[in-house]
This record gives sequence, C-alpha cells and structure tokens, in this order.
Amino acid sequence: MTARQALRAALALTGAVALTGTGCSADVPHRGHGSAAPGASAAASGAVPSPGAPGIGDPLMPLDGNGGYTVRRYTLDLDWRAPGTPFPAGTTISATATQALSRFDLDFAGNALHRVTVDGAPAAAVREGDELVVTPARPIPRGGTFTVRVTYTADPTQRRQRGDAIREYGWVPTPDGTLVCAQPDGAKMVFPVNDHPSLRAPVTFRITTPPGLSAVANGRLVDRVRRPGGRVRWTYDSEEPIAAQLIQMAIGKFTFAESAGPHGLPVRDVVPDGLVNDTEADRSLTPRHLAWLEERLGPYPFRRYGVLVGDTDLPVALETQSLSVVPKDDLLGDRVDAERNLVHELTHHWTGDSVAIRRWSDLWLSEGHARFYERLYSAEHGGVSMEDAMRAAYEQHDQWRHDDGAPAEPTEPTLFKVMRYDGSALVLYALREKVGDDTFNRIERAWVTRYRGRAAGTRDFVALASEVAGEDLTPFLRPWLYGPDTPPMPGHPDWQVDPVED
Ligand SMILES: [Zn+2]
Repeated sequence: MTARQALRAALALTGAVALTGTGCSADVPHRGHGSAAPGASAAASGAVPSPGAPGIGDPLMPLDGNGGYTVRRYTLDLDWRAPGTPFPAGTTISATATQALSRFDLDFAGNALHRVTVDGAPAAAVREGDELVVTPARPIPRGGTFTVRVTYTADPTQRRQRGDAIREYGWVPTPDGTLVCAQPDGAKMVFPVNDHPSLRAPVTFRITTPPGLSAVANGRLVDRVRRPGGRVRWTYDSEEPIAAQLIQMAIGKFTFAESAGPHGLPVRDVVPDGLVNDTEADRSLTPRHLAWLEERLGPYPFRRYGVLVGDTDLPVALETQSLSVVPKDDLLGDRVDAERNLVHELTHHWTGDSVAIRRWSDLWLSEGHARFYERLYSAEHGGVSMEDAMRAAYEQHDQWRHDDGAPAEPTEPTLFKVMRYDGSALVLYALREKVGDDTFNRIERAWVTRYRGRAAGTRDFVALASEVAGEDLTPFLRPWLYGPDTPPMPGHPDWQVDPVED
C-alpha cells in the first residue's frame, strides 16, 4: 500500500463517520454515540477533508476553474530559451482552502510535468485530461493557507484550435520570440491555474531571456536582473488580480514606447523593433481613444495601458489586461479598421477585464459592449453609421440565432461567433432605443462602476438596467437575449429580419 492509498483509505473512513453522525444529530438526541457527535460537527463545519471540485460547474466548460480553495497569487518562473524550444518552468500558487481538502485540482494541459510540492513536501500528482489532481501528504484544514509549487518543462509550441473568431490560441510564435493568446481556456497550456474568466488573482511573472531579447507581461516592470551568460531576468507584477485568459507574456526584440494618456495615465507600447515607425500613427491614437471612452464609461479602471504589436500572421487581437495584443496587420492597413480594433480591445478593459463575466454564457456582455463602442467610435470617425451597421445586424439576427444561439444562449462551439459581437451589440442598441440615450448612458456607467473588479452576469445586467431605468426591463430584454425570434426594434418599425436559411 502506497502512502497515497493509505491516505485514501483513511479519508474513506472519516467520510463514513461523518455521514453517520449527520443523520444522528439531525433526527434524535445523542445516545452515547461517542464518535458520531464530533464527526457531525466536523462535517457541518466542512472540517472533514474531502476533494475539492474539479471545476466550478460552468455549463459550457464544466471542468474549468476548481473548487475548495481560492488563489491569492500566482508566481510564474519561465527560463525561456528560443522560439519553439521547450524550456524549464515553474509555478508557485499561494492559496487559501475554503473547505478541508484531502486533494484539489489545477487546470493544466500538455507540458512535461516534473514535480509538485505542497508547503515544501512532495505531493502526489495525477493528470486526468486537463486536470492536475494534487493530493498533499497531509490534508489541508479549512481556512488554511498553503503553497503549491509545480515544476515542468514548458512546451511553447502548444496551441489549440476553435471554429469561431478565436481560431488558434495558446502560445503564439513570433520570428524571434513568442506571445500568449490564452482566450478562452488556453492559460492551462501555459501554467497550472484556475482557468475560468470569473476567477482572478494577482500574478508575478519572472521571465529569463537570452541576450538581446526583452520580456514583457501584464502590469508593472518590477526589476531586471543580470543572470549568468548574458541572460536577463525580468520581473513583472500584474498590479491587479487578473483572469487566466487575460495574461500576457511576450518575448522578442522590442522597443518600449512610453507616453501618457488622460490624467497622466502611463501608456507603454511594446513594439517589435522593425515595426516602430510603421505603427506609430495608429498607436499614437491611444490617448484619444482613452479620452473618448472615459467620457462614456468613466475612469479607465487600471493603472496603465499599452499595445503590444504582435509580429504574427494570426488574426488575433486580444484584451490582455493592461497590454492589449494587436497583430501588426491590423496597424499597417486602413486607419478606420485599425481604430475599430484598437477601440474594441480598449473597451474590454471596462467590460470583460474590469467587469468580468460570471459564466461563459455571459460573454455577450463582454463582446457586445466592445463591439458596440467600437462601432459607435467608428461611426463618429469616418466609419459606417451606427444605424446602418445595426440595421444590417438586425436583418441577420434570426439567422444568427439559428446558427449561433441567441445572444445569452451560446453553446461551447458557438461562443465567439458573430452573435456574440454584432448580434450582442444589437441588444445594447435595442436597449438604447427603448430607454433613450440619457438612461442608457447611466446604465452603462452604473454597470462598470458597480461591478468594477468583480464578476457579473446577464441577470445582474438586466436587474441593474431595470433599477436605473426605473422600470422592469426583464420582459423587454428576455426575448432579445433568449429564444429563437428577434423582437421588433423600438423606433424602427420598418426594420425587417431576413428569413432563416438552413
Ligand atoms: Zn473582443
């Protein structure tokens, strides 16, 4: 019998005692069941160690995130070598148990696992799909703080594919380095983590680079230390808690272009050396974008911003927190298109990054808002008028409902389909038409203010909109968000929905 089997046997026994005890104490007075009473109180208080849940039960991605503990901080150590080359890596997780834990899970995919310790002692670790199941040598009491250390060889070629707007995600190769696009559930390919957008923790990044290369990550550069062989270790602090899908770590030959936004907000663009001049005109618009969004949504909710120019052919722009990644092609073409992409990722910092989604089915709140303000900005700056864009979306809305699910009814494969973008911007447009500009703007401000730094969902949005508007908007919003048929557009009785084609 291994130590692990012994532990399992012991836990099975404790569990049985707790069960008996609970039944006893609920129905009849104690009659000398000496061992049952302590078991009962222990079970009721969650003190009997049991496994943490393998996921938080999101209906679309049930195993993402984990139960039984909260993460206080992740510290990532990446000893990066060369493009496409495996390298030594480690992750330290400081956590607090929310129940007595016999074992717990982390989300972790691929890579070559070496060793897991809990509070310095070797722990049993088993991989089951994308779950890393960790059994510590001793159970962790409820409320106890503990530190998990996972060492592994990272595989920077790991990527996954989706059939929607995300296409490829995970590590994204560049000619001399790498960057990360983890949305929606690809952070687990980078480090062991609670990989769900509603779960956030601060992150410390320690990235060691070869001579001549730089590293960047979300947040603030804390220090830069010389290592043997001309290598440099860069330490960044995320400054704010961050969801796994919004992490950014990039390595390359970079120029750091620093400027200031409204109220002196530090703006730091990170640009591959050869692309500094060609992207400058578009990048220099960031302060204007910030000011425009602050007028509508209030103060920018983080301590810095910047654009990481992606030297990649992948069509991925992503709202990685405090440092959006935008592929170079988005910044080398048409100005109107470039601004749409830049404003989209910046808007996410209010809706998506600061106000996180509670469940994946709430994605329409993140993408719908980003698309709404992207289009609103563009309409005022040389792009298609809001009414034309929304009328086109209206015409296709039944088809999108058929193909992608209603805005708040996605399936896992249809998450990042057009219904979550223009289809959901249309819901916000309908709301604005219904309640008027002033009320709509107050709803929007209240949304990003009340839920700043928190996770919120569809029900929260409908309740808040109703509260601000002073009328129950549930009967209005429900058919827009759920079900097969697009409701009439307020104020536009002439708008028609195209027939659905199978
Ligand atoms: Zn987006």
